[in-house]
Amino acid sequence: MDRALLERQLRELPIVQYEFFPTEQLVFSDKVRYICETECPQYNTTWACPPAVGSVAACRERCLSYPQALLIVTMTEVEDLENMPALLKTRSAHEEVTRTVHGLLREQGIEPYVLSTESCEICQHCAYPDGPCRRPEVMYPCVESQGILVSDLAERFGIDFMAAGNVVTWFSLLLYEE
Ligand code: SF4
Repeated sequence: MDRALLERQLRELPIVQYEFFPTEQLVFSDKVRYICETECPQYNTTWACPPAVGSVAACRERCLSYPQALLIVTMTEVEDLENMPALLKTRSAHEEVTRTVHGLLREQGIEPYVLSTESCEICQHCAYPDGPCRRPEVMYPCVESQGILVSDLAERFGIDFMAAGNVVTWFSLLLYEE
């Protein structure tokens, strides 16, 4: 990988922070999956979320088969955190950045395993569970769906995702092998 080129390209995007690190540093926890099961309305509604993504152990195995990780973070200030359409717009912008970074890695001949935010929003109605995913090549499972402890990442890299004010913070992970 031409990392210097990639970093120059990353700096041109609306990314507030990016970090390269070994995938083995990710912390996986069944507690994250428990929160998916008990608190997330997306649970069991999409191929991008549990249980469709497999057990935490299977997700961990898949993630660790890509030895390198690139974390990208975007932050957007919104007027009102209760304003769901405005909030979702910031998510779409983050997804766009994630797709761009995915493309940059592909340009370097690298096919990463991409994890992004919440559930997939590509189709108006997800094919789950009646048929296979329609766009598996561009469908990004949610970071948390893998059982990954995002708070550990935030702490390790000093990302204040509970930042004061009406700031929305989104994370994506691109796992890859050079
Ligand atoms: S691409 Fe479509 S079918 Fe696949 S996970 Fe996303 S919404 Fe569901």
